[in-house]
Amino acid sequence: MAVRTPVYLDNHATTPMDPAVLEVLQRVQKDHFGNPASEGHSFGWAAQTLVKNARHQVAQLLGADPREIIFTSGATEANNLALLGIAAASTKPGKIISSTLEHSSVSEPLDHLEQRGWDVVRVPSDQDGLLQLEVLEKNLGSVHDHQVSLVSVIAAQNEIGTLQPLEKIGKLCRDRGVLFHSDAAQACGHVAMDVTSMGLDLVSISSHKIYGPKGVGALMVKRTHPPLPLQPLSFGGGQENGLRPGTLNVPGIAAFGEACRLALENRDQEVARIRQLRDRLWHRLEEQLPGVDLNGSAHSRLPGNLNIRFDGIRSAQLLPRVAVLALSTGSACRSAEPGPSPVLLSLGLTAQQAAASVRIGLGRFTTEEEVDFAAERLVAAVVKLRQEKP
Ligand SMILES: *Cc1c(COP(=O)(O)O)cnc(C)c1O
Repeated sequence: MAVRTPVYLDNHATTPMDPAVLEVLQRVQKDHFGNPASEGHSFGWAAQTLVKNARHQVAQLLGADPREIIFTSGATEANNLALLGIAAASTKPGKIISSTLEHSSVSEPLDHLEQRGWDVVRVPSDQDGLLQLEVLEKNLGSVHDHQVSLVSVIAAQNEIGTLQPLEKIGKLCRDRGVLFHSDAAQACGHVAMDVTSMGLDLVSISSHKIYGPKGVGALMVKRTHPPLPLQPLSFGGGQENGLRPGTLNVPGIAAFGEACRLALENRDQEVARIRQLRDRLWHRLEEQLPGVDLNGSAHSRLPGNLNIRFDGIRSAQLLPRVAVLALSTGSACRSAEPGPSPVLLSLGLTAQQAAASVRIGLGRFTTEEEVDFAAERLVAAVVKLRQEKP
């Protein structure tokens, strides 16, 4: 069967919308323009029902209560609201523990807080791309210390796909009464997530990483008594418990809900299918090429992720040679920044090794034919590039 090109293998940057999600988006956009804050008529009520339904669907994917879901414009806004909102509720700068594996939408708000006097600890990763738990524990102090305001750790790393030990981190935090936030944009919907067993107080998720539309996401905020010390970053309107005011993006939210429903419904089969395709691609490359290595953990990894190092080549040279494949050299959010990926360097790779690395992201719509085609093209291009070398 002929493969339609270009082949999309960059599902960590974004995913195509699922046709069922697109249908919801279009239907709501067309038929339901009401404002869910309009209490007095059926246009408002219809919109309210759509949002309520989506809130249930999103909550269900996380094992949360629907009242704990705050809709945002995406995971970037959710991360900013979590970090800056917790900081804003504190009368004086405190201490936040995070990692060297974070997405820029966590690391940059943390840089900002650091400039404002906060003590920010970035726990390093080991060679496999897993956060060093002992270092985190040491920084948390004893169960009697109450020095730390918040721990924020990415759930699934967006370049190397490593799944961080959230349950263990959650336990360390819970034992000390420390708030725990996770950026789960790459994890939620792709692997099982449960906010209770993971001890999570705050979770950020994004619709467009799970076959939903762009520009919508959510922050899960655990309901506690008293409420979590979280301040809004913008004001006016009182929507979303006053934490995220502004008229809700009803079509986007309804479609996001549908994306969550589908993700939960099909997760086990989908994980198995994508993992099998991912392993097939990796084995083809490994069998046919010397000098290929996997960056990150072989086991604690997103099913659709590969991050591969091809010795002796530069990915910036390789990518144009395989232009029929949509691949990336790293985080889409960093692609404007020069220099090797900080995440790859944090695994202990040299700058040269980091520059020889390519990220491949398989997804719901990736086929076996596409995987075989990708393997063939990558092998041919790497062999040729190596031959051209003086
Ligand atoms: C994509 C991504 C984000 C940003 O999500 P948006 O909805 O695009 O703002 C944040 N964190 C991680 C890990 C991501 O992969």
